[in-house]
Amino acid sequence: MDMNILPTVEVNKIVKVVLLDGYVDEPTCLGVPPYISPYIRYTAGAVWTANPQAQIRYFTIDEVRKNVESFYKVVEDSDLFIVVFGVSVPGKYLGGKPATPKEIYELTLKIEKPVKVVGGPAAKFGSGVRGGIVVRGTGMFEEVFDLIVTGDLEIVIHDLILEKLKVNRVDPTRIRETAHSIFEYAVKGARVVTQHPRYPRVICEIETYRGCSRKITGGCSFCTTAAYYGLPDFRPVKDVVSEIEAIYRHGVKYFRLGNQPDLFAYQAKGVGELEFPRPNPEAIKKLYQGIRNVAPNCYLWMDNVNPGTIAHYPEESREIAKIIVTYNTPGDVAAFGIESADPKVIKLNNLKCTPEEAMKAIEILNEIGRERGWNGLPKLLPGLNFVFGLIGETEKTYELNYLFLKEVLEKGLLVRRINLRQVLVFPGTRMWKVGTTFLRRNYHLFKKWSKRIRDEIDIPMLKKVVPAGTVLKEVITEAYFGKRTYARQLGTYPITTVIPDELPLNTMLDVKVIDHQARSVIAIPYPLDINKASIKILSAIPQIGKKRAARIIKNRPIKNQKHLETILDNKTLAKQIYQNYITKK
Ligand code: SF4
Repeated sequence: MDMNILPTVEVNKIVKVVLLDGYVDEPTCLGVPPYISPYIRYTAGAVWTANPQAQIRYFTIDEVRKNVESFYKVVEDSDLFIVVFGVSVPGKYLGGKPATPKEIYELTLKIEKPVKVVGGPAAKFGSGVRGGIVVRGTGMFEEVFDLIVTGDLEIVIHDLILEKLKVNRVDPTRIRETAHSIFEYAVKGARVVTQHPRYPRVICEIETYRGCSRKITGGCSFCTTAAYYGLPDFRPVKDVVSEIEAIYRHGVKYFRLGNQPDLFAYQAKGVGELEFPRPNPEAIKKLYQGIRNVAPNCYLWMDNVNPGTIAHYPEESREIAKIIVTYNTPGDVAAFGIESADPKVIKLNNLKCTPEEAMKAIEILNEIGRERGWNGLPKLLPGLNFVFGLIGETEKTYELNYLFLKEVLEKGLLVRRINLRQVLVFPGTRMWKVGTTFLRRNYHLFKKWSKRIRDEIDIPMLKKVVPAGTVLKEVITEAYFGKRTYARQLGTYPITTVIPDELPLNTMLDVKVIDHQARSVIAIPYPLDINKASIKILSAIPQIGKKRAARIIKNRPIKNQKHLETILDNKTLAKQIYQNYITKK
């Protein structure tokens, strides 16, 4: 069907819709604040396509938790209640707490009037709340929801509104016919971003395609992408660009091309014939140029890349990396799903690359992307993902993974972050047969080797990626922990920045890195207003300490460098502090 002539419902009644975002996190899609997932935007777009007069109220689960009574009032006044949630890649999130199946069940149990629909990864695949478990099915939802959408939520919601909310008239398993089928939903749903509690500082996760070319070999043993979506079906460049243009016009300028298993394989040639189709730099250039044309001041990042693609096609991949660093925002990360450096595990789980291929991919990306950009971060680095609990795993696996990472460090290569995850076991994948057998057997090893990697690899690597003295631009203060402020840049895998005092939240500032701890940096505002800074901030400046900080405060206002020299009784130190922290370079 031509999407330009999608039918709309005869508007004899305004449909009131409540859209609840319980957040999603899948291997190829993130929707935990500050991110908003395509599920939400497409679903809103499907509603507005079917009924342009529909009123949508969008809530995040964190907003609901703060004021559940007023949420219930809005829901009971609505015709349709839609929940989107599901975490299949569990992690810890600073920006929000994903809904659990139990929480959604209990919340929905009390809702009476509207038609109740659940969709997203939890409805499609079940939902795990942490790694190392077999995910729950959707059984408990049957009690509280009128419709459990195991197909594509936006397609089913469009049908449901056209069918005047009669659930027995729609097929909950229906999926999009082609990648172009969502075009109108993606564009029309853009305006829902204005209702996000963090608007306009929201990162829109953008889909370029779904499905994996490795489906022809069966795909990786744990992966839902190959199992559920089959071979890639690429969105046309103009569809992605039009969606970004629409969102940009609604005031959001942060985007991540994150919703695909391998951005370097976007519109690659040979899908269905080759396990690794030949990358298409021309298409990627059109995509990035098109985005910059319609959203010139946007912030643009990416996510997943298959290191096997880079290793198989180094020349095309170099070309693609150069295109990306021309148009992207520094701090960009190509997340490599290496999963394991143990050849036996790689074979038994049909993983995508050998350790040698993974190393080659890391080297190529370093060659092009490690130069530092305007916001203090390297332009494009790899991020590495490892999964534990796979078929055939032994203690040797853990040792080989550690040695691989040690080699990366010793070669002087940079990686932005190393994710060590326990596998989640989904029905329909090959891991389903073995469940958590290996994970349970090796849990003590996971603990032991994760700690070793955190201590011996992570911290030295972070010191190289963001050395002391680096100025990180546009950091946003997000939360307090133990009288310190946690802040991050808006971006993909942003570095957690700990500021040693409580600063006003939701404020954007520049900071200078003074130290490192596991997976985060310690930093102070830059340039520092020495006449206003607190004793905690002043004491944190290297070599200052509490006594000197107290002396500074007692003698404020500090007029100039000379004045500081007399107060500190140390000319060299005063000069260093003045020039490194107080005077902007
Ligand atoms: S390469 Fe493996 S993990 Fe990645 S999408 Fe394909 S099957 Fe899934």
